[in-house]
Amino acid sequence: MSVNVGAYQSIHQELLSKNVQLIAVSKTKPNTDIIELYELGHRAFGENYVQELIDKADQLPKDIQWHFIGHLQSNKVKYISPFVHLIHGVDSEKLLQEINKQAIKQDRIIDCLLQVHIATEETKFGFDGPALHEFLTSGRVKDYSNIRIRGLMGMASFSEDQTLLSKEFTTLKSYFENAKKAFSNGQFDTLSMGMSGDYQLAIQLGSTMVRIGSLLFGARNYSK
Ligand SMILES: *Cc1c(COP(=O)(O)O)cnc(C)c1O
Repeated sequence: MSVNVGAYQSIHQELLSKNVQLIAVSKTKPNTDIIELYELGHRAFGENYVQELIDKADQLPKDIQWHFIGHLQSNKVKYISPFVHLIHGVDSEKLLQEINKQAIKQDRIIDCLLQVHIATEETKFGFDGPALHEFLTSGRVKDYSNIRIRGLMGMASFSEDQTLLSKEFTTLKSYFENAKKAFSNGQFDTLSMGMSGDYQLAIQLGSTMVRIGSLLFGARNYSK
């Protein structure tokens, strides 16, 4: 058991006081770790890999809210569409089309966040600023009858440079405020930004949802 219960409790209290939602990122971690937080009352968990997510969802309590935070391939949407709570990394209209199709089949509305590319690294997925603006002002959003776009998600550069991180988070927050104008229903309310290393900065700069893994569960071991 490697859950850091003390860290969980202090982060949980801190976020509660700031009205920020905590997603416990449990990728690569065993079910026993998830159950430990579940028994403390935690329900929102984040996973990156489709097969791992469906195995865990099958084995664990049904009232867990599963957040898909990884890069989602269109051909895998059907496996998570029956139960996923929020898909964070929607980075193309092709993916939106597939999610919408599967949501219609399941007769449900699926909540999604559009992923925005804010980091300097070229490998990170997402819409860039102009593509996001074009999409949101195009009128095409309403074609996706069974998707509710709840907000934006972004990952800052893998860096310790606070100035750089601040700049990236500030950019994402300004896209978020702008994008809000395209949604009059008041349900565009989620800005998913901040991880173990940078969540406090992200919250200062306007995050409403943080995705924290290693601070809660310890470092991940990918060699297994
Ligand atoms: C793994 C992951 C996290 C959690 O990272 P930590 O640094 O362990 O908190 C958050 N967001 C995404 C998209 C991830 O892939």
